[in-house]
Amino acid sequence: MDFGDCKNLRIVWGNNCIDRNAQLFGRLGKYALIVTGKNSARKSGALADVINALERNSVRYKLFEEVVENPTLSVAEGIGEAARKFGADFLVGIGGGSALDATRAGSIFAVNKFRKSSDVYKCEFEETLPFVCVGTTAGTGSEVDSIAIISEDGGKKRSIKNDKLYAWFSFCDPKYTLSMSYRQTVSTALDAFCHCLESWFSKASTEESREYAAQGAALIYPNLVKLVGDRYILYNKRLREELYYGSLWGGLAIDIAGTGFPHPCGYVLTETCGVPHGIATAVFENAFLRHSLNELPEERDRLFETIGAGEKDIYDTITALTKNNIRISKELCDEIGERLKTAPATERTLGEFSWEEGKQLAEIRFLDRRLLEKFSGRWTL
Ligand code: NAP
Ligand code: ZN
Repeated sequence: MDFGDCKNLRIVWGNNCIDRNAQLFGRLGKYALIVTGKNSARKSGALADVINALERNSVRYKLFEEVVENPTLSVAEGIGEAARKFGADFLVGIGGGSALDATRAGSIFAVNKFRKSSDVYKCEFEETLPFVCVGTTAGTGSEVDSIAIISEDGGKKRSIKNDKLYAWFSFCDPKYTLSMSYRQTVSTALDAFCHCLESWFSKASTEESREYAAQGAALIYPNLVKLVGDRYILYNKRLREELYYGSLWGGLAIDIAGTGFPHPCGYVLTETCGVPHGIATAVFENAFLRHSLNELPEERDRLFETIGAGEKDIYDTITALTKNNIRISKELCDEIGERLKTAPATERTLGEFSWEEGKQLAEIRFLDRRLLEKFSGRWTL
């Protein structure tokens, strides 16, 4: 199975795929707004390749380099406004999930007016400006899904999902992930693995989504094991390819089946304490897997066979990579409970899973009643 078998998507993948398919940019118009964060688009080499491809097609371009991690509504509105001012025919997002999600949401604001910007979360829009994605992390799978995680300006992460939010083209070249540090690699790889597990054990999963999740998990898990043992394996081309393509399968899987309760729990840790998305999610993943395997024991063998490891191995690997001394207050546990009350991911979790149960899991793992501040500690890997 390869990405050509997927419905609805224009995934262009492989080594030097931008250079080899540069003519695709010419199909989208004559003016492009390029959307990036501060550094990664340049550092990864992706920006230079995109500019070269645009110039070969006589497309004029302008840079919008203001995307921050966990992008907000204001950033997305800013992209929309910049696109209108420049008369952009299309957007090109380059980066990790933050730049790609901001581009996706910016494509809505470029051609829609809302009474207030938060109305965008209602997903009642008919049109978006065409956009292209170029991924530089191996984590979110944002290149291939129709989801934008955009924080309200107060900081709360919320998702926008709509069929109009698929990229016109996504250029997926693992070489752009080579410039990630060890910690970025671990955090994003864990995010991708969580996408595979949470979609696999989602009430909304289908045969198709489980197939995607299995493809992703099989590629990612052995490389997580390698990352535990060797910080210097980062420059290994095969590891980068497997992690990146695995993350794309994970993106395809969550696009159908969604994520489970670790994601909303993790959002609270990211918003309040700045823990990177992948780690914030993965610290809840062992609890999720234990719960899911109890609910669906018949999937145990398929999972273990797919990834070539047993239950304890998975727990040990995740524990080793998420090593931390995080403690959280009663107040923050309550916030996690509140988030779980309304999160669709709670409903998608197998069995009679309730928000109270999710809160309790967070308490067992992290609660420190003596803590004066909301949060202490960090990811110590
Ligand atoms: P990210 O927030 O996009 O990037 C994290 C950091 O890594 C940034 O400092 C970024 O730099 C840097 N970086 C990115 N690529 C790099 C490279 N090749 N070399 C060196 N540094 C690089 O990380 P992410 O984990 O990919 O995305 C997380 C966001 O995606 C969160 O907002 C999360 O909620 C969202 N998300 C979306 C989906 C989805 O389905 N759409 C799924 C899961 C998570 P720059 O700032 O310079 O770019
Ligand atoms: Zn995620």
